[in-house]
Amino acid sequence: MVLLDRSTLMVVFAVMTLTMLALFYFDTYRRNRAPFAGWWCVAVGSFFCAAAFYYLGESGAMAWATSVGNGVMVLGSGCVWAGARSLSGRRVRPWLLALPSAAAWAVAFAARLAGDTRIGSIVLLAMMGAAIGLASFELRRERATSWHLVRSLAIATAVCAAYYLSRMAGLAILGPESALFQLLFGTGVTLLMAMVLLVVVSSSITALNNARRTEDLKELASRDALTGLLNRRGFLQQAQQQLRYNLDAGIDSTVVMADLDRFKAINDSFGHDAGDGVIRAFSDACRTAMRTADLVGRYGGEEFALLLTGVDAQEAVRIADRINRSLAEHSSLPEGAPQPTASFGIVDTRTRSTGLQRLIREADSALYEAKAAGRNRAVVGLTLTGNDVH
Ligand code: GH3
Ligand code: MG
Ligand code: MG
Repeated sequence: MVLLDRSTLMVVFAVMTLTMLALFYFDTYRRNRAPFAGWWCVAVGSFFCAAAFYYLGESGAMAWATSVGNGVMVLGSGCVWAGARSLSGRRVRPWLLALPSAAAWAVAFAARLAGDTRIGSIVLLAMMGAAIGLASFELRRERATSWHLVRSLAIATAVCAAYYLSRMAGLAILGPESALFQLLFGTGVTLLMAMVLLVVVSSSITALNNARRTEDLKELASRDALTGLLNRRGFLQQAQQQLRYNLDAGIDSTVVMADLDRFKAINDSFGHDAGDGVIRAFSDACRTAMRTADLVGRYGGEEFALLLTGVDAQEAVRIADRINRSLAEHSSLPEGAPQPTASFGIVDTRTRSTGLQRLIREADSALYEAKAAGRNRAVVGLTLTGNDVH
């Protein structure tokens, strides 16, 4: 059997945590400064400091350092819990981390003065087990897109919590000198397990961070910079899914194509920036008029596409009317300028084919009719009747 010398292991643990912290900070955290990665940095940093305090405590001359190490260990475990909570956007009040940490230190300090260090260790293990167990519980509640990555974190933290709580029970029941306790929960075993967990958790968090980053980039790539609406690609992607869902659920859908009227003249008379302002006002008007299941995208320069769910063509005409009124009210054009308007082409899935591309084409030809009929109006496809927006 290979004998693992306690002091050597502690030095290895300290060097490993420091290396891991540096790698994690520069390679993962600095990329997008996600709160959960930040908490993990603080946790690893705390474990490193705790290892340093324990090392000093071992030397004998600075026995007080061991109790400080206990406090810092609890702080690090609390950070693991805070990181797990931050994954789903929940916060942790600082006193919830500081108070247990101070309590762990105070108990260890008092226990040492009283000549019984065991109680300090029992409190430390109970607090660590509780904090890391709570982290595992928080992770189980998180059902984000990257669940398979969160799952490995949830398992790692559950194993870790179970180990610390078993170690606590072993310490209370068997005592630190027992051969069985040394075999299962001796310092060497505990440090080795902590190292394995550090590697597992760090690599899982790095993978999670990368997955979140890819999602953010995808989201960015599907958005239009001027309005924040979906761009053409994003709209087509999401509308395809929503339309399929609506069809399966037997819900009506309506596709609306909208185009700002005589927009070139607005640019020519008031400048490109004023034109941009009108585009933004139109997108705000769409957002205000729509409900959560509805989608709107900037389809081209001053052309927009909408997919309305649970709405038929006649209701869509009323929505188009609201959008045009809101556009006129919030126009950023100078006083005396003509009010901006838009024309709309509308088709619904009640009377029309159901493929998105075809619905868009048909809505587009209804829009063309609206333009030809004098603009500032909505035309419903198929029936070929012009519906004046006013
Ligand atoms: P119609 O009523 O027939 O739609 O006439 P229109 O002038 O709106 O149509 P046209 O297609 O002739 O002109 C569209 C203009 O929209 C031309 C283009 O310079 C302008 N445009 C496209 N994208 C932007 C943009 O992001 N910002 C601004 N300010 N103008 C834009
Ligand atoms: Mg236009
Ligand atoms: Mg156009």
